[in-house]
Parts: sequence; structure tokens; C-alpha cells
Amino acid sequence: MSAPAASTRAERRARVVIAGNPNTGKTTVFNRLTGAHQKVGNYAGVTVEIHEGRLALGRRGQVDLLDVPGAYSLSARSREEELAIQAIAGLEPFESPDLVVVVADATQISRNLYFVLQVLELGLPCMIALNMTDMLGERGLVVDARALERELGVRVVETAATSGKGIDALLAAIGSELERSAEYEPRRLAIPESPELAEDVHLVSKALPAAWSRGNRQRERALALWALLSLEEHDELVDIPQALRVCVNERRELAAKSGRSIDTEIIQGRYSWIDSRLPQFLHQPQHKPRSRTERIDSLLLNPVAGFALFLLLMGVVFQSLFTWASPMMSVIEGVFDWLAGWMRAAIPAGIGRDFLTEGLVAGVGSVLVFLPQILLLFLFIGLMEDTGYMARAAFLMDRVMRSIGLSGRAFVPMISGYACAVPAILATRTMERQRDRTLTMLVIPLMTCSARLPVYALMIGALFPPSEVFGFVPVQGLLMVGMYLFSTIMALVAAAVLSRTLFKARTPPLILEMPPYRIPHWPSVLRMMWQRSRAFLEQAGGVILACTVVLWVLLNFPRDEQRAASFESQRQALVAQGLPHDELDARESAENMRTSWGGRLGHAIEPTLAPLGFDWKIGIGLVGAFAAREVFVTTMGVVYGAGDGVNEESSTLRGKIKAESRADGKPVYTPLVGLSLMVFFALACQCMSTLAAVKRETQGWKWPVFMFAYMGVLAWVASFAVFQGGRALGFE
Ligand code: GDP
Ligand code: MG
Repeated sequence: MSAPAASTRAERRARVVIAGNPNTGKTTVFNRLTGAHQKVGNYAGVTVEIHEGRLALGRRGQVDLLDVPGAYSLSARSREEELAIQAIAGLEPFESPDLVVVVADATQISRNLYFVLQVLELGLPCMIALNMTDMLGERGLVVDARALERELGVRVVETAATSGKGIDALLAAIGSELERSAEYEPRRLAIPESPELAEDVHLVSKALPAAWSRGNRQRERALALWALLSLEEHDELVDIPQALRVCVNERRELAAKSGRSIDTEIIQGRYSWIDSRLPQFLHQPQHKPRSRTERIDSLLLNPVAGFALFLLLMGVVFQSLFTWASPMMSVIEGVFDWLAGWMRAAIPAGIGRDFLTEGLVAGVGSVLVFLPQILLLFLFIGLMEDTGYMARAAFLMDRVMRSIGLSGRAFVPMISGYACAVPAILATRTMERQRDRTLTMLVIPLMTCSARLPVYALMIGALFPPSEVFGFVPVQGLLMVGMYLFSTIMALVAAAVLSRTLFKARTPPLILEMPPYRIPHWPSVLRMMWQRSRAFLEQAGGVILACTVVLWVLLNFPRDEQRAASFESQRQALVAQGLPHDELDARESAENMRTSWGGRLGHAIEPTLAPLGFDWKIGIGLVGAFAAREVFVTTMGVVYGAGDGVNEESSTLRGKIKAESRADGKPVYTPLVGLSLMVFFALACQCMSTLAAVKRETQGWKWPVFMFAYMGVLAWVASFAVFQGGRALGFE
């Protein structure tokens, strides 16, 4: 966010804030006025930061213009709305605006006026840019701007920002309104109010910090209404004084006891004010002709056909994240393998070379390998948003998702989690409420991502027979499907539990916006793909790279020079005899890993893993898997001396795993241990990239740490139950 610093000049530049509901054309108006190019999207909540521009206004000179995020009301339900409120009300770090230009969608006038009303309640100088007037004809609506001006007592300018119509008039009006803003008389609106509500407002306004109300009675009242309507018990957004929270909660509880709902009273009061005046300026046809959007919606929002089409679309998205991304991912991996190979040949052997090839190059590669999936997912999301379909998808899924405490918009990110949690976590940006975003991020890593597949494949392939149950259902396939089902159910259960405990919140009044369908605007889609990818590379990339290097150090140090020399002389001897030395190399790697810090860590955590059926070698594998889950397979390969170049198909590794035995001669790996290990992988958050992404998106370490902890406990308990339960039932 670019928080504008206080002006140091003697004569302060005037500040004009462009505000309004999401998707009304604020950014388009802003761009028209300033000539700047911000992202313009056909989707609620695309402006997530505050953009600042300059405006030259004849006699007034330079004016600062702010494009703030959209908000349906002045209730902070997300960071974006919170920013909007701060900028409009002039709370820290913003200065009070000299003029608020509300961009209102002329085709949705009643809902847009709800927002205007709140700006007027705050006593701020305000004018309306009545936008989208080009769409009125299609809807058969007529809005009388002069009558609207009379009813509200504010200046109204009709615009159609995409074609630029009315922008010059808007510019002139901003100039003349600023001239008058010094002697601005706040409007007093006669919004109906019960005596009880008046009492609530009075008491809450006494609990407001003085810096907010600035001794202004009207502003005090407006902020008290805002607090009564918007403070949530578990709201982490605005820095709210405790006294205010307590007071608001008391009033709400008291109201609830006498069967009142403060929310409903405030909201209905405002809407009845608007509705009683609506006929003065809005003329609606008796029989509306069905618009193109309505005709498309009758199919796409149909409970049966619409749902089927949505699931089909999701199937395509999900499948393409696997199939289209994987060739690109192989290319990236290939390039980095080649680079590492080239460096190995070009640089003399030694620790510096190992660090460059195995630590640094591998680290950069492990960051870049996410790009194809991120780009693809945001291509789909961008298209869904820009065409206007995303709001429909959220609507279709809302009831189902709501029953487990998630928002309808959580569905697309959750499904994306089947491919990879990292792009899925970035995709939670499409949600409005911060609470919904954080909650969704916390359960996404439980979905079976593609990095778990190699681990499942190795375990299933090595430990379960390729036979059939009931004569035709293959055991191995059944197990694989079972793991997917298991992870999905666990994610839903976790969401249900978290939303009823840590994330308990009042359900805000549901406002669903259905923007009209539009042809996607490619530059916006491409820009969003680029912005998201860059944000990921810049902010999550650093953490991932650092962790890769740390893990490399853990698994390769300390080095035993004496042992290295002894292996080297044995190797020389083999070379001299013209014999292969692969097996010797593998033994050396295994020895090195066993005595490395990572190996010692594996030993150290063995006691906690033993009840799950795991030994220290699996412990090392789990440490290594933190880089990326699929690294488990390679780490196991090294631990078992099967050589570096193993994959899950490798029969040497499978063979070694099957043959591995404990001190008492019993096999380490039984089907039960395999199952316990798979359950552990399904539930544990062993993925630094996911943690880095969550840290970036929640702006702190609190939630990634919580996620790591809760998933770790869940994994341990579930594996314990599987292993001990299985043993008690006699499977071993
Ligand atoms: P914001 O969320 O309020 O910033 O809205 P945007 O400026 O991002 O615009 C949302 C969508 O409405 C974009 O697809 C714009 O092209 C479109 N739009 C903006 N102004 C107008 C207008 O006056 N008429 C029509 N038909 N579309 C508009
Ligand atoms: Mg915008």
C-alpha cells in the first residue's frame, strides 16, 4: 500500500477520494481522469491497493486523487474494505479527504446509494459520478440525475467511463465542488431510528477514541453506527480499542435479549430512507425485457444444468493444472538439471561446487517450478473474473460451502489445492473477508497435492500386492482413490471445526453481486497473471530459497574428510581395475547422510516417530521432505544407498524398502507402516513453499506457524491411531 505521507508544503494539495461499491467503474474513472493505467477488472474487489494519481485542475492547481478499493458498505469485512474506510473517514494513516467522489452504478442505484448515505452520514463533502449510464437503456431504466441531486443535496454527474462520456463534466464538477468544500455544510439525513437504537448509538459514541470523532457530533454518530454494525468478535483487522469492543458487545447482547437486531434496524433504516425516495428519480419499466445476461444466467445459475456445467469447468481446470503444467515443469526442471550438470563439469570438485549445484541452483529451480501452475491457475481465474462468471460460481457453491463455514468463493482455491497448495493459496485473494481467506488457506494444504503422489506411489507399489478385491477392483488403485477421499474429507472436517471455534464469526448480511457478462479483456488478464507470479517470486521465493539452502546444509554437513579420503582411495582402486564404482558412491552418500545433522535429527526424532511405526531413516526422509514432499523419494533413495537417481518407479528402491529389517529381523516396512506413513503425508504440513505462501498472504508468521502445528498434531495423532489400531487388530 502506498500510504501517502503528510504534506509538508505550506499550502496543502487538495485530496480527492474515488470510492464506491466494487465493480462500479472506479478504476476506469480514475484512469480516465489521470491517464494512469491501473488494473481494471470485471470482478468485485480487484483494486486491492490504494492507487494515487495527480490531477491538474485550472485554478485549484494540483490535486491528489486516490482510487480506493470497492466496498459495499463502510463495514470492514476485509483488508480492502478497511483501507477504503480509513481513506474515506480520514483515519490513520490517511488525511481527511476534501471531497469524496462516489462512483455509483446507475443500473444498481438503490444499493449504490446505501454507500452514498454512509459517506453523507460521516458529514464528508461528497459528489456522485453516476456511471454506467450507457447500460441504462438496455435495462429499460431511466434515472433522473437532477431529481437525484435534489433528493440527496449533492452534485450528480452522469458518466460512461469506458467510452469517456461525461469525464470532462466530472473534472469541472470536481473543481467547483472543491472550491465550495471550505464552506461545506454537512447534510443531516432524517433516517428513521427507534429510541432504543438512539440509546445504543449514544452509549457507543461515548466509547469512541477522541482521535476518531474529533469532537464532531455528526461524525461521532456515524462512527458509532459503523462500530455497532461492523465490529466482530474475532476481527483482527482494525485496531479497535478494547473499551469500544466491550461496549458494542454489551449493546448487542442487550438488544438480542429483548428480541431486537441492531444490524437489521440500521440497515433497514437506511434502505427505507432510500426506497421512500426512489420513485422520485428512478423510472423502471413495468415489464422488463430479459437482458442477455439474464438469459445466460437462466442456464448458468440453473440448479441442475448450471451446477453440472460448473463441475465440468472445474474438472477441466483441475486436469489442466496437472497435464498442461507438467510439460512446462519438466522443461524448467530439465534446464536446472542441465545447469547443475554444466557447473559440475566446469567447476573443480569441492564444497563450493556442491553448494552451487545442489543448494543454490536446486533452490532457484524449486521456486521457479511453481510458475507454470501459478500462471495457468491465474489464467483461469482471470478469465472467470473478467467474464463475470466467478460471481456465479461463488453463488452456486455458497450454500454447500457455507454449511462447513466457508465462503462460496473458497471452492475454486480448494479444488486448485489438488494440484498444488501454493497457487491455491494465492487464489484466496478472490475472497472478500479476511476471515474467509485465512480459514481457507489453513485447510488448503490438506487437499492431496501432486507432490504427494510419488510418495503414495512408492509406498503402494512397494508394500501392497497388485491384486484385486471382489475379483475386479485393483487394491493399489483403490488405495490411491482412498487417499484422495481421505484428504478431502479431512479438509472439510478441519474447515468445519475451525469455523466453529477459532474462526467463529457473525455471518454478515449476504450481498452477492452478479456483474453482467462481458468479453474478457486480455491485457487485464495477462497483467494479473504477471502480478501474481511476480508477487510469488519476490516474496515467497526468498523463503523457499533460504529453506532449500538450509536443508542442503543439514543433509550434507558436517563432512568427514577422513572418510571421504578413504572412499576416494577405494574408488581409485576400482577405477584402476576398470570396475564400476556406483555401489561405492551410493554407500558413501548413505554414510554421509547418516552422520549429517539431518541424519542426527532423524535419530533425535525417532522416539516421537516410533509409535507411528517409523524408524530414524524415515525420520531423515521426513526432514528432507520439508523441501518438497516428493524429495522424500530421493532422500530415501540416498539413505538406502540406492543411488541419487531414483524415482518412485525405481525397483531398486522398492526392493531395498521391502528388504529393510529391524534389529530383531522383522521387516521395517509392513503394509501397516506404509499406510501410517501415507496418512502422515496426507495430513502433515511438510512443505516450506506452502508456509512461505501463507506467510506472504497473511503478512506474518502467526498463521503459518499455527498451520504447521495443527497439521503436525493431526498427522501424528492419525498415524498413531492407524498404526496402533492396526497392531491391536493383529495386522503387522
Ligand atoms: P472498480 O472495481 O469500481 O474499480 O471497477 P472497474 O473500473 O475495475 O470496472 C469494472 C468493469 O466495469 C470493467 O469491466 C469496466 O470496463 C466496466 N465499466 C466501467 N465503467 C463503465 C461504464 O461506464 N459503462 C460500462 N458499460 N462498463 C463500464
Ligand atoms: Mg478498481
